[in-house]
Amino acid sequence: MARIVMKFGGTSVADLDRIHNVARHVKREVDAGHEVAVVVSAMSGKTNELVGWVQGMPKATGANSPFFDAREYDAIVASGEQVTSGLLAIALQSMGVNARSWQGWQIPIKTDGAHGAARIIDIDGSFLIKRFGEGQVAVVAGFQGIAPDNRISTLGRGGSDTSAVAIAAAVKADRCDIYTDVDGVYTTDPRLEPKARRLERISFEEMLEMASLGSKVLQVRSVELAMVHKVRTFVRSSFTDPDAPGMGDFLNPPGTLICEEDEIVEQQVVTGIAYAKEEAQISLRRVADRPGVAGGIFGPLAEANINVDMIVQNISEDGKSTDMTFTVPNGDVAKALAVLDKVRETVGFDAVQHDDGMSKVSVIGIGMRSHAGVAATAFKALAEKSINIRAITTSEIKISILIDGPYTELAVRTLHSVYGLDKH
Ligand code: ADP
Ligand code: ASP
Ligand code: MG
Repeated sequence: MARIVMKFGGTSVADLDRIHNVARHVKREVDAGHEVAVVVSAMSGKTNELVGWVQGMPKATGANSPFFDAREYDAIVASGEQVTSGLLAIALQSMGVNARSWQGWQIPIKTDGAHGAARIIDIDGSFLIKRFGEGQVAVVAGFQGIAPDNRISTLGRGGSDTSAVAIAAAVKADRCDIYTDVDGVYTTDPRLEPKARRLERISFEEMLEMASLGSKVLQVRSVELAMVHKVRTFVRSSFTDPDAPGMGDFLNPPGTLICEEDEIVEQQVVTGIAYAKEEAQISLRRVADRPGVAGGIFGPLAEANINVDMIVQNISEDGKSTDMTFTVPNGDVAKALAVLDKVRETVGFDAVQHDDGMSKVSVIGIGMRSHAGVAATAFKALAEKSINIRAITTSEIKISILIDGPYTELAVRTLHSVYGLDKH
């Protein structure tokens, strides 16, 4: 007997038939004698709809913030998961499985107070463990918790993955299965490149880079937690027949295992290609060339919670000043421009230019640590397709390249093929 946390994403619980199918996956593990906690997302499209409703509301009279009340945002957008947790509990009961739903605050899943993008700080697993002892399946609403102000919080988009891994760590589960609409982690997004291959295994570090650099198959924070707490995490499909051969294989279920580097036998130089669309490039022209300037620019941007990514600095033509270019997500451009306007006098720069039609494509692989020439291969391949490179950043195990948005698909496919990742 083992303890398993099973997480089902939005497409897996998109309607009543699919919820019934999910219940069959859960029943399979229960029938095998395992203790099971399930984490569910909202039905696909639901969270977007709820967010849209919030954004469509007028802001409070007299409010001087352009943003709505994040606590009410959380109360609203967390509701999608409440619905699916109840429905799945009913579906399980109808199959004779003892199950009940749990909302984040009932467990409780305690988070910090950053409403809208809260971090889990503590989960008391004792209630769930007690119910396991009574043979009950816990169906937990993902994406939500309770903040120190005693109000509902949400974990940021895609946050149910994080709920699942955090619960798995809290109840010391033997495994955390992330069920989704693809049968594992691929060398790149299979929706964009049909030649992408499923990976049997991927290391925590590489998965962390893939997720941070745009592969939305797992939320970044869930990978961090899995890595820190050593949660054995599989990504697998809910769309296969729950009773197909091998689906209940405990040691080697179908899907991709996220694991320690040394569990991977055949390490490739490049493991995957990730991409993030909707990146914006902001350039400050003729910035005074003196100590403290970068701090004067990026300090206030960080205080405004703006996620600055690539930074490039070069000397202006006159040799007396520098040009500073950096990227932020498109959604943060207006906020960033407002911050820059405020520091313009003190920092001293001439002009601000921005372009929000950028994409970032990234090449990821631990094998890069010991192989030279990986970056040069990417630059040459992109040049052959006449794709212009706007900025580059590298780390030990990744290279990220900023390009014009319309070239995203071409760039991803080109890189995927040049490193031999295509299916043969
Ligand atoms: P869920 O609703 O189950 O959480 P998501 O839509 O969040 O599902 O994540 C699954 C999607 O992630 C897939 O449909 C796929 O298009 C996308 N994806 C992006 N990059 C990858 C990758 N490298 N491997 C697998 N899927 C990926
Ligand atoms: N329903 C939430 C979202 O769409 C959380 C999740 O699906 O993981 O972001
Ligand atoms: Mg997701």
